[in-house]
Parts: sequence; structure tokens; C-alpha cells
Amino acid sequence: MSDSPDIRGGRLGSDELAANFGDLHPPLSRSEALIEADRCYFCFDAPCTAACPTGIDIPAFIQKIRSDNVQGSARTILGENIMGGMCARVCPTEVLCEEACVRNTHEEKPVEIGLLQRYATDPVIDAGMQLFARAPASGKKVAVVGGGPAGLSCAHRLSVLGHDVVVFNKDEKIGGLNEYGIAAYKTVDDFAQTEVDYILGIGGIEVRTNCSLGHDVTLDELCEQYDAVFLGIGLCRSNDLGIEGEEKDGVVNAIDYIAELRQADDLGALPVGKTVVVIGGGMTAIDIAVQSRHLGAEQVHIVYRRGPDDMSASAFEQALAQTSGVTIHHRAPPRRILGNGHVTGVEFETSAGKLELCADVVFKAIGQQLSDIEGPITENGRIVIDGWHRTSMEKVWAGGDCVAEGEDLTVSAVQHGKVAAIDIDRFLRGQDDG
Ligand SMILES: Cc1cc2nc3c(=O)[nH]c(=O)nc-3n(C[C@H](O)[C@H](O)[C@H](O)COP(=O)(O)OP(=O)(O)OC[C@H]3O[C@@H](n4cnc5c(N)ncnc54)[C@H](O)[C@@H]3O)c2cc1C
Ligand code: SF4
Repeated sequence: MSDSPDIRGGRLGSDELAANFGDLHPPLSRSEALIEADRCYFCFDAPCTAACPTGIDIPAFIQKIRSDNVQGSARTILGENIMGGMCARVCPTEVLCEEACVRNTHEEKPVEIGLLQRYATDPVIDAGMQLFARAPASGKKVAVVGGGPAGLSCAHRLSVLGHDVVVFNKDEKIGGLNEYGIAAYKTVDDFAQTEVDYILGIGGIEVRTNCSLGHDVTLDELCEQYDAVFLGIGLCRSNDLGIEGEEKDGVVNAIDYIAELRQADDLGALPVGKTVVVIGGGMTAIDIAVQSRHLGAEQVHIVYRRGPDDMSASAFEQALAQTSGVTIHHRAPPRRILGNGHVTGVEFETSAGKLELCADVVFKAIGQQLSDIEGPITENGRIVIDGWHRTSMEKVWAGGDCVAEGEDLTVSAVQHGKVAAIDIDRFLRGQDDG
């Protein structure tokens, strides 16, 4: 093992980078969409709708595509999920709507619901066509903390219901992990910001960026100044491995590097290790591994402590990593980071004995946790909520990754924000029955 790490930019030329970071699932043309829509059986009690965390009426929107009513189709989608455009790109449909599609049993291939959803929503979002009007002003004002999928979904629904909203966001840009986390090849052409602009286009939503709860403003102040508060602050702190050598140079939090990648103007300038080891088994592990390969890393290993079925990354994502040239090792918990000042490798334990892998860079992708917050009750590092997303604090709701319920998916965060907004509206109108 060499002590001088091979980490540098410019491993690939600009054409190769452009190809590697192009759209993972290119959009359907009109004729492709019409053919795909024709495959739908328009099932009664559609299992695909039951499997969608936001409950989009999938056969209804596909039917509208079939009759060339793309705008009506978008309305059906966005009425339940205002981030229907992003979800069409990033949802693990293979374990949600498309897994439930009855076409799987008849043809072993589901209707391509995600691509059809994108076909319907893209023209509306690109054109900034507002499909929803605001209800008459209620005179109420709600603070939404966090401008990620949960916060934006809550803010949009509250605005539609006639309330004014102020979004407080720690990061410079609104969008949360849609802007700073999702793999670059899933959301090309700055779609995250196009969608943010679309959502804010409803009006009635003021945005304060670089403004952090616990630093620039307290929860008590927000409760005093606003009629209700929604917390959608995600999970900011990366978990530690808790093993010897973790502090060495070259041991990096995957989400920090991904954020840098997502904000980079020139991917060719990003420093990339020749040999990369990723520790973890979720979506972040897959994303950092695949993107490292796409940036030109020669050898990339994902090492997960349990078996393939325990990985939270779906089978599709695991296959994506493997077809991108990533080697996945299972049942190998890390024991020690090797090297002097800089990492040179990692030692893992396996049933067959010790496994040692060389590394110029080691990415930690073993999950994130909530930053310390004062106020609502937390359990296991998440905010505790009830079925309507109320926290233990009066006037305070919460949703998205920061709460105990849910699957840490964009679509779940959107649903949380929507449900909370519906309940906040009831509370603000005095229709609250407890
Ligand atoms: C690398 C990675 C890849 C992923 N890929 C996918 C995918 O392909 N598909 C999928 O469905 N899901 C994916 N996810 C999960 C998905 O991104 C999250 O579930 C979703 O973004 C959660 O939304 P959220 O609004 O709860 O939190 P976030 O998106 O994390 O947004 C939180 C917002 O709160 C703000 N904030 C934080 N703290 C404070 C504070 N103290 N004060 C004020 N503002 C604050 C932040 O600035 C941020 O804007 C991925 C996650 C990661 C980490
Ligand atoms: S389950 Fe499949 S075939 Fe049935 S309505 Fe949904 S998309 Fe159409």
C-alpha cells in the first residue's frame, strides 16, 4: 500500500463526463408515451396508486395522457404531489408503483409509470404553468423551517389553502437534498431549481436562505411570531463509523462530497481517488460509488456489513452500481482504517477472515442523524409525531427525514409536508378536534 494517495481531477475528458452524467432515464417522446399509456389496464382499485406514498391516481393520469390531455394529467399528479416532476426522476418506482403494477404478472414488465409521470409534468413545470389558484387570504402566517421536499410541499399546500408562509432555510439554495444530494444523473439541467421556482410561483411564500433554526432564530421565537410552525429540517449530521483511524485524511462523509459534486461548475476539476472504498449499503453508498466511477475512479468497492437483501438500496440500484463497474462486498463490517496521516486502506472482518482493501479515498455512507434541536420530543435521533405530523409541542408539526415515520425518500417527505399542511389548515381555521 502506497502512502501517497492518487487523488486528482481531470481523470476523464469533458465528453466522457457529459456522457456519464447525462439523464439516467431519458424522457419519452409523444409516440413512446402514447404506446406506453396504451399498456395500462386502468385497473379498478389500482394497486399502483395504493403503492404510491402520495396516493396519485395513476390510471387517471395515464388515461389523460392517452387522450392527449397532458395538462390535465399533470394536474392529477401535482394535485397530490407537487414534486411529481422530481419524483418521476428519483422515486425507486421498482419498489413502489411499478412493483405493484399488474402488468408484471402478465408480461413481467410494468407500465413505465415514472417516465409517463415525467412526460406529463415536464411541459407544465418548464413553462411555469400554474395549475392551482390560492384560496382567499386567511390572514394566518406559518413558519416552515427547511426548504427541502417536506418543507416545500407543506409551504405550497398552505399557500393554496390561503395562508402566507415564510420558509427559513439553512442552505444557500432551496430544495434540500434535491439540490445537494440526489445523484447528478437523476436530475440533469438544474431541474431541482426549475421545480423550486415552479413551486414558489404560486405566490404567498417568502424565502429566507442562510437562516438556521437554533442559530439565527429559535423555535420559541417562531411560535410567538407565527400561527403555526412546520419543521422539515432533514438529517444533517453524518454518522461516524466509530473505528480506529476514522480521523485520517481521505476519510470523507459521502454526502459532503456529493453536495460538492452537485454544485460543481466543472466536474473535471473535482478531485477523484484512483481507488475508492465506500462503506454503507443505502442509496447514498450507491450514489457516491457510481458517481466516483463516472468521474473516472478506476476501482470502486462498496462494502456492506450485512447481506444483499438487507441493503436499503433497491435491487435496481445495486445492479446500477454493478453495471457501472462497482464491486459490492457483503457481510464485512469495517474494523480499522489503515494508513499514517492519509488513509491507505480499510480492514474488514468477514466469515472467511480479514479482508483488506486499498483506498485513496474512503467514503462513509452509513446514514445521517438529526442535528440537536430544542423543543419537540425526539426518539432515536428523530422527532416524534402523531398521524397528522403533530409534535409534542403545541403549534409545531414536523415531517420528512427528520421524523421517526417514513422511508427517507423524496416522495415520503412530500407526503408528510402535504398531510401536515392539511392538519395545520384545520387548526388555523379552528376546525381542530384535538
Ligand atoms: C445522497 C442521497 C441520495 C438520495 N437519493 C434519493 C433518490 O434517488 N430517491 C429518493 O426518493 N430519495 C433519495 N434520497 C432521500 C431524499 O433525498 C430525502 O428523503 C429527502 O430529501 C428528504 O426531504 P426533507 O425535506 O425531509 O429533507 P432535506 O431534503 O434534507 O431538506 C432539509 C432542508 O432543511 C434545511 N435545514 C436543515 N437544518 C436546518 C435548520 N436548523 N434551520 C433551517 N433550515 C434547516 C436544509 O437547508 C434543507 O434545505 C437521497 C438522499 C441522499 C442523502
Ligand atoms: S397497476 Fe399497472 S396496469 Fe393497473 S392501473 Fe396501475 S399502471 Fe395501469
